[in-house]
Amino acid sequence: MVIIGGALMGSSIAYNLLNDGFNGKVLVLERDPTYEHSSTALSIGGIRQQFGTKVNIDIARYNVPFFEQFDELMEVDGERPHADFRQRGYLFFGRKEKWPVMKKLHEFQTSQGMEVRLLKPHEILEIIPHVNLEGVAGATFGPRAGYVDPHGVLNGFVKKAKSMGARYLTDEAVNISVKSNGVNGVKTRKGEWIQSPIVVNAAGPFARDVGVMAGIDIPVDPLRRMVYECKTPNEFNYEVPLTINTTGLYFRTETGGRILTGKSNEDEPIGVNFTWEKALFYDEIWPELAHRIPLFDRLRLQGGWAGLYAENRLDHNAILGEHPEVKGFYMAVGFSGHGLQQAPAVGKALSEAIRLGRYETVDVSCLGMARFEMEQLIIEEAVI
Ligand SMILES: Cc1cc2nc3c(=O)[nH]c(=O)nc-3n(C[C@H](O)[C@H](O)[C@H](O)COP(=O)(O)OP(=O)(O)OC[C@H]3O[C@@H](n4cnc5c(N)ncnc54)[C@H](O)[C@@H]3O)c2cc1C
Repeated sequence: MVIIGGALMGSSIAYNLLNDGFNGKVLVLERDPTYEHSSTALSIGGIRQQFGTKVNIDIARYNVPFFEQFDELMEVDGERPHADFRQRGYLFFGRKEKWPVMKKLHEFQTSQGMEVRLLKPHEILEIIPHVNLEGVAGATFGPRAGYVDPHGVLNGFVKKAKSMGARYLTDEAVNISVKSNGVNGVKTRKGEWIQSPIVVNAAGPFARDVGVMAGIDIPVDPLRRMVYECKTPNEFNYEVPLTINTTGLYFRTETGGRILTGKSNEDEPIGVNFTWEKALFYDEIWPELAHRIPLFDRLRLQGGWAGLYAENRLDHNAILGEHPEVKGFYMAVGFSGHGLQQAPAVGKALSEAIRLGRYETVDVSCLGMARFEMEQLIIEEAVI
């Protein structure tokens, strides 16, 4: 089988297949082995439990313990990767108008067995003593959640998959051959035709291009998201959870007395754009941060980057599994900004779909491509 895209999703699928006893050959086609522009390398590594749909909660239930054991599970010849899972928690602030919805969401999350707490303002102060809670009615807090080092996680999956027999080829898929009974091969930029009855699209923000090669329209587009890295004043000397302000602005501690922060620009046009601009920080993010944490008035912007979300513009959720018509064409795409944390469960689910033709560990069948035809969208409200 061929997996197109060898970053996090492709490598998790390769690892899971081989770990589960798949007895075919696994070829991972990756055009850029430096992963410089992959979403994985440019992510901020957030792992959370506070989702609004059952399927995403089921996925999170599998993933959190997986990341807790990640270094051990990915050990190769006595060497362990460093996912550096910092379980500082995930904190969503809620304003008064949204508070009833957040309480309902919290009830749903806890009814599904998620460890999520509802915090009153004074309890938020215990976590972030410098916060100004004007306009904040309360928060939800997932104490087992937090953030990982995306590079550590990527390296862990890639090395483990290779050690188990996955072959990584540096080349680009440019065409997919589809016959009446399904896919039967992939053509590469270097001119090679690789015969295969199974092709997996794990091309991240470029999933739509790979779909076109197989004659399929996948509703996933690249969407720029910018991240800012700032030095905090010395008095701010504790680690904070991955915190989401009432407006969707986020910040979290980064090593070395720094924070990472960002906010989705609602007017961002679809397209491949890696240009990093400071204007969003100075015009919008910094004033908002300084209002929420007055000490951040003295932040120093040190740098940042732009990466791409693979945005599923229909319901902001992953598209998983075999295409209903093109047999042998599998997808693990459209993660809309929450794919890093979903990689372990998605890898497992795709392994089951490919080997067994069904899902056993986490039932993600509602995230199949067929949902669009059937108008059964799985809308995830908790998107950042
Ligand atoms: C700024 C930012 C912050 C984020 N924060 C979070 C977060 O906090 N938590 C979270 O869970 N997620 C987050 N995400 C999302 C997360 O990074 C992605 O969902 C996840 O990394 C997707 O992994 P992937 O392997 O599908 O895609 P990618 O990492 O983009 O990998 C796709 C790979 O496919 C390769 N490829 C593409 N086309 C071809 C082709 N034709 N032939 C060969 N190779 C090809 C590319 O070179 C690339 O390496 C964030 C993303 C961004 C941009």
